[in-house]
Amino acid sequence: MSNKPFDVVIVGAGIVGAACADECARRGMSVALIDRDVIGGGATAAGMGHVVVMDDSEAQFALTRYSQKLWHSLRTEFPDDIEYEQCGTIWVAVDDEEMGEVRRKHGFYGERGVSTQVLNPKELRALEPNLRDGLAGGLLVPEDVVVYPPCAARFFTERAQKQGAQLFTTASVKRIGQGQVELSGGMQLSAPRIVNAAGAWAADLTPGLEIKKRKGHLLITDRYPAFLQHQLVELGYLKSAHSVTSDSVAFNVQPRRTGQILIGSSRQYGAEHKEVDHAILTRMLQRAQEYMPALVAMSAIRTWTGFRAATPDKLPLIGPWSGDKTLFLATGHEGLGITTSLGTAKLLADVLTEKTTEIPIEPYLPSRAREEFAHA
Ligand SMILES: Cc1cc2nc3c(=O)[nH]c(=O)nc-3n(C[C@H](O)[C@H](O)[C@H](O)COP(=O)(O)OP(=O)(O)OC[C@H]3O[C@@H](n4cnc5c(N)ncnc54)[C@H](O)[C@@H]3O)c2cc1C
Repeated sequence: MSNKPFDVVIVGAGIVGAACADECARRGMSVALIDRDVIGGGATAAGMGHVVVMDDSEAQFALTRYSQKLWHSLRTEFPDDIEYEQCGTIWVAVDDEEMGEVRRKHGFYGERGVSTQVLNPKELRALEPNLRDGLAGGLLVPEDVVVYPPCAARFFTERAQKQGAQLFTTASVKRIGQGQVELSGGMQLSAPRIVNAAGAWAADLTPGLEIKKRKGHLLITDRYPAFLQHQLVELGYLKSAHSVTSDSVAFNVQPRRTGQILIGSSRQYGAEHKEVDHAILTRMLQRAQEYMPALVAMSAIRTWTGFRAATPDKLPLIGPWSGDKTLFLATGHEGLGITTSLGTAKLLADVLTEKTTEIPIEPYLPSRAREEFAHA
């Protein structure tokens, strides 16, 4: 048994834990980063890698935009395998009602400094000729990006290691709290600050956390270069993402640098098995084909699933956990954790070093969750 003192021990080497380790190490802290699996092997390996500005709430917008700017700022430092591509997003509208939403989004983003372009049907067709006929238009958000998340997690981990961080993989954490981290082999690490960044499994280590697993499916096709140029998302995606009771699917496709097409997405509560659910996969693909009929003729290479860490108010939990002054959270990022990992890391490191945060942290503080959920 060893008892190494670190300034901070981070549990979970997904994109969030890796980004936190990097930020803490760069600020001079001695860091231990622990994962029971490999780096980025959880939801991070399953995610789509769409770095997207979202506007469900002011707080969601603030964190996604802050984070996206951080992704942009690192673009020249990224190795090739992160596959950083600023392909932009097109939110696709099927009818006049959804065009109303396009215009609302255009106004919302414009007022907050994000440039977007409203597309009429002809402009939409010119940009994405493989969409079906008869669509009402869309909204182009040119600054949205696509990355390959597991390699991004590895990049941040390696940067942290270059600053002296120690990485423990295949090391399962049994217990955290009161400055102690107990690994299943009996090893114990101590630190005045422990960060629970265990994603969808965070509540196993911190009982009382309001986090549910939300299962998602993805499929990747063979190579079809130039078939797709932008990340395309139906505006109905927002309804799908908001549903907290039923299973839902939405049209959400992404061009990969290889010419492959990543097809999503689904959301399920209460599905704890990681096996592919063929009924929901079929629904997801049918939805995609309603928008892009030519997808039906494509060969699929692989399908997989992953678990999003969902909180009741759809905002992550970042900051101190009441009841244990050594315990901090960086979890609950649901379907936006790739995007918001970098903003999360900055906010968390600011809290740990008692610095003023660049955006208000209050909407993400775990204390807000406990108060609000207690009255829900
Ligand atoms: C299908 C799907 C599509 C998605 N698409 C996008 C997208 O396009 N854009 C976007 O921004 N986000 C997307 N997401 C969400 C994103 O993938 C997650 O929010 C993000 O990966 C969460 O990162 P994390 O580091 O918090 O969790 P994880 O990547 O799950 O990492 C948690 C880590 O903790 C480790 N761990 C857990 N318990 C223990 C323990 N007891 N001991 C040691 N280690 C432990 C796990 O092994 C794991 O590696 C998607 C998610 C899914 C499922």
